[in-house]
Amino acid sequence: MRIFNGTALAARLNAETQARVAELGRAPRCRVLLDGSNAGMAAYGARLADSAVAAGIDLETESYPQAAEVLPRLATLAADATLDAVATLYPLPAGVDPLQAALTLGAAKDIDGLHPENAGLLALGAPARAPATARACRLIAEDIAGPLTGREVVLVGASRIVGRPLAQLLLDAGATVTLTHADTRDLAAHTRGAEIVITAAGRAGLIGPDHLADGTVVLDVSINRGAHGVIGDVDLAALADRDVTVTHVPDGVGPVTTGCLLANIAATACEAGS
Ligand code: NAD
Repeated sequence: MRIFNGTALAARLNAETQARVAELGRAPRCRVLLDGSNAGMAAYGARLADSAVAAGIDLETESYPQAAEVLPRLATLAADATLDAVATLYPLPAGVDPLQAALTLGAAKDIDGLHPENAGLLALGAPARAPATARACRLIAEDIAGPLTGREVVLVGASRIVGRPLAQLLLDAGATVTLTHADTRDLAAHTRGAEIVITAAGRAGLIGPDHLADGTVVLDVSINRGAHGVIGDVDLAALADRDVTVTHVPDGVGPVTTGCLLANIAATACEAGS
């Protein structure tokens, strides 16, 4: 088994973003809303803020207000002319409808492809701002496996933030895409026929030896927190002797996702102008 670390690819992305920001001549400004009481989300927000400094982006985090105040707060941020972008980390506070949140924020400051206009452009195969994790997965798959034209890719998980937008990006790259989910009857029958498996089910140990053919590339997007720390969906111990490549959790998809989010912020600021 080979383990892929995303740090080098993320560094290349961040260098490109840094150059784009330098050309823009000002620091793009972004606000990230998160649940400060969720340790994982807070740690991700802190890493994001650190990476933003290096890229020349002015990124601040703030905790979600109570549920009834979230939409009014998003409306205020949408109207703030000094902000280029706003991100709302998932899960949103209980009771907040994701579609209403995206509509309140508007398409222009949405850097995670959640507004129907941005999601719709992606679905139509038009140039679009795709969610950072989906963009990261396409880049990693190409980095490890080369051009995706004609490749058999199976996605495990069909959420609005990972599986659905990623299926569109992979179609655009010429791959043959199968989208599986919790109601899929025989997951292994699908994944065994794949050259590339991208798993974002959030189920530790879901992908084992019976799920993979020799030579498969596996992108493990999931972050499952448990007694043994942070692990993905792939049963690494059971695959140790197999001829497969698996992305590290959390240093495989994670840093590249951060890099793609920063790139999306810079792109939004460039569209808004100097
Ligand atoms: P979600 O709960 O919204 O979606 C999970 C998807 O997995 C659903 O489509 C569900 O049907 C499917 N699923 C569940 N059990 C399955 C099974 N046994 N077989 C096949 N499909 C199954 O979750 P999400 O927001 O998409 O996040 C998924 C995971 O990815 C989480 O662990 C999350 O922390 C992680 N994540 C990581 C990043 C990153 O950048 N590394 C970004 C976003 C999410």
